[in-house]
Amino acid sequence: MNIPILMYHQIDEPPARGAPLRGLVVSPRSFSRQMMLLKLMGYKGLSMTALEPYLTGEKSGKVVGLTFDDGYQNNVHHALPVLSQHGFTATCYGVSSMIGGTNSWDRHLGIAEKPLMTVDDWRTWRDAGMDIGSHTRTHAALTKLPPDEAREQIASSKHELEQIVGCEVRHFCYPYGWFAPEHRHMVQEAGYVTATTTQRGRVHAGDDRYTLRRIMVARATHLGLFAAKVMTCYEDRRA
Ligand SMILES: [Zn+2]
Repeated sequence: MNIPILMYHQIDEPPARGAPLRGLVVSPRSFSRQMMLLKLMGYKGLSMTALEPYLTGEKSGKVVGLTFDDGYQNNVHHALPVLSQHGFTATCYGVSSMIGGTNSWDRHLGIAEKPLMTVDDWRTWRDAGMDIGSHTRTHAALTKLPPDEAREQIASSKHELEQIVGCEVRHFCYPYGWFAPEHRHMVQEAGYVTATTTQRGRVHAGDDRYTLRRIMVARATHLGLFAAKVMTCYEDRRA
């Protein structure tokens, strides 16, 4: 059984034309139509925690993993109501030292700074049955750090987020999708049960849980393409 894990960043009205990484901002209307399509086609949208038994093969069914990187506040405003409406859950990967801040790690690229979720937002997210994952302390480029610092980024972000939200943080996402075999080990050692990458394709029960492929949904992903990405081998062929 193929398991698509979707990767979103922001759900918001798009920034000005020509803005860097504008493509990663999916409009609320598109997001709503995508979730409606999943529902109509009989899919259940699941957080990484809810997806665990499907990844191990204990359960099977029409499921789609839903993930949001970085922890943008617009996820709470625009994605959360839609997810709740359909009875879906999702995982948002937070940057633990930037709670209530902005995506300042992108500043040097000229990317518009957007507010990240505050402590209250994270609690709202959690109380709605959503899941919280880690995306390091500072949105770290792990492959450019000495091993000790990389290990610290991976382990301490888990503890910080757990302190803040008061629930277990079981899932990790590599910032920029960058990792080497030693980082995969550090993630496992820190007690996470999965890690997602930016490698393309759908996953299957029994795949390595620390190098999970995902499917990027961008602003340009029209509904027909979205359907092809989820329901056909479109992404697998581009792996
Ligand atoms: Zn990120």
